[in-house]
Order: sequence, then structure tokens, then C-alpha cells
Amino acid sequence: MIRIPGRRFAQCNNADCRALFALEEGERPSAYGYLCPECLARTRTHHVVQCSSCATIVNFVAALENEEKTTFVVGKCSNCVGGVEDERDVAPLYTGESYA
Ligand SMILES: [Zn+2]
Ligand SMILES: [Zn+2]
Repeated sequence: MIRIPGRRFAQCNNADCRALFALEEGERPSAYGYLCPECLARTRTHHVVQCSSCATIVNFVAALENEEKTTFVVGKCSNCVGGVEDERDVAPLYTGESYA
């Protein structure tokens, strides 16, 4: 998460999206982490494939309108192989949270 005085931004937790978007005041991450409005809307019409290791959303699977939406879990995703852990370690340096 990036903090700019007065504004909060998050990066979409969908591996194929990764859009930066502004958070509403007091907005909390969903069960899928922070998702941009577009991806959040897709969770209502698609099954979600989520990585159990890094919690990244790796895919959406089209669901029938009256079908119950479920979350599929994969043990590892391409994000786990490298890079994401580094990103997570680096991120607090920009937010200042690690020095609180
Ligand atoms: Zn997104
Ligand atoms: Zn992963």
C-alpha cells in the first residue's frame, strides 16, 4: 500500500491487473485482499482462483448467473516463484509503517 497524505492507494491483488487505485476512506481489504473496483465487481460474477501461499488472485472463472460463486485455491502461483516476496519486503520502506 502506498500512503500519500490525505489519500490512500492500493495495488490490485489480481495478478493480471495490478492496477493502482484510490481507496475509499476507511476501506478494508476484502477476503481477496485489495481489489480494484473492476476486479471486485468480477468476484460477484466469477469464481475466484486464489493462491494460498501469497493470497494473490491468479484467475477468474466464468460462473453462471445463479451459480454459487466459490473460491478455488492453488498452492502456488507464478507470483510465488520470485519477485512478490521481494516486493512485500520493499513496500514498507515507502509507507514508513515498519518504523512506527
Ligand atoms: Zn484489478
Ligand atoms: Zn502465489
